[in-house]
Amino acid sequence: MGTKGREIVGMDINELVKELNKALADEWLAYYQYWVGAKVAKGPMRGAVVAELEEHASEELEHAGMLVERILQLGGTPILSPEEWYKVTNCGYEKPSDPNVRILLKQNIKGEQCAIDVYQKLAKMVKEKDPITYQMVLSILEDEVEHEEDLEALSEDMGLL
Ligand code: FE
Ligand code: FE
Ligand code: MG
Repeated sequence: MGTKGREIVGMDINELVKELNKALADEWLAYYQYWVGAKVAKGPMRGAVVAELEEHASEELEHAGMLVERILQLGGTPILSPEEWYKVTNCGYEKPSDPNVRILLKQNIKGEQCAIDVYQKLAKMVKEKDPITYQMVLSILEDEVEHEEDLEALSEDMGLL
């Protein structure tokens, strides 16, 4: 991003980049949790659950891409090594050691609820200070809300909620 583009950001850019990198770590961990969860899933409605997990995996990867583009526009450096993901993540990682779809759904719902909190806080932080990041954060937040709802609907269909 050009000089003027950075000038209009009304907050500490290093602080903002730090928060965006934390969200980036969350997205990669969420991506892998969904991706590997879809591979190992077993149990009732397996096909429907796998389709949803795969769709969410690809959307988390898109979110990671959006965050990296914004970090670069701000003149920051995106996380360059996977070992940093664990050090800076907000939401962590739920290992799908039990492949039962019920457990996988529960773990992923927890992850989405954490993601909703993260983007809600980010939105508050950048609102009226950085319209470009604000717009991006709202668009990701919208997806995370949809993810939670999709997973809860599947759980409901299984009679789990
Ligand atoms: Fe995401
Ligand atoms: Fe999500
Ligand atoms: Mg979905």
